[in-house]
Amino acid sequence: MKKYKNFSDIFNSQQLFIAGPCAVESEEQIMTIAKLLSENNIKYMRAQLWKPRSNPKSFQGIGLIGLEWLKKVKQQYGLVICTEIVDKDQIEATKEVSDILWVGARNMQNFELLKALSKDERVVILKRGFISTLDEWLASADYIGRDRVIMCERGVRTGVEATRFTLDLGTALVLKKDYNMKVIADPSHPAGRRDLVIPLAKAALSAGLDGIVFEVHPDPDNAKSDAAQQLSPAMFRSFMQDLKY
Ligand code: PEP
Ligand code: MN
Repeated sequence: MKKYKNFSDIFNSQQLFIAGPCAVESEEQIMTIAKLLSENNIKYMRAQLWKPRSNPKSFQGIGLIGLEWLKKVKQQYGLVICTEIVDKDQIEATKEVSDILWVGARNMQNFELLKALSKDERVVILKRGFISTLDEWLASADYIGRDRVIMCERGVRTGVEATRFTLDLGTALVLKKDYNMKVIADPSHPAGRRDLVIPLAKAALSAGLDGIVFEVHPDPDNAKSDAAQQLSPAMFRSFMQDLKY
């Protein structure tokens, strides 16, 4: 399996686009999204098998069974698979399928997980914790190894209540300019509603960040997680079309 040890493989002077559902739910769902991405020249898929949820009654992810479906996605569409891990054992379990690993906001300071990741070779996307400072976020990257980490700004808690989180493009730009890190933004989680995702994505891209990661689902209203914010395939296509001009 190709390991993305080297960032030049990923960035190639282009902005990085990673898209996919909030969570892998079924084989049919993930194959539908894989087809949509590949028709629109997106090569990186977010494919989350384990979901760290605030509420224990919420959907916790499909788990290991989803790896078989992701194998098919790779065989059929050649997509690069990005998977969030919530436990050390999942580093080994995802070895053959997931090209890029991912640490979610709730685990940014799960230091044992970060230490375990430092022993792997894959690139890691490190999301910012809900209220983490730039220094705390960078210190977490240091546990893994800064040169293997893509930082992901996904919004922080502020006094603002109109949106789910506040996308902090300023801090993302400081990380790029002063620390020379690769920084992408997740416009889906700060938006919390699908009509705001594309404008926030465009803001991040035009600010000069290194890319975006966002959610798209074949039937967002019936998604098992984050139903309000996932783009529909039609919205996704129109966003991709927009970017061409
Ligand atoms: C997600 O990417 O679906 C997610 C839960 O994001 P975060 O870890 O940023 O909350
Ligand atoms: Mn989500």
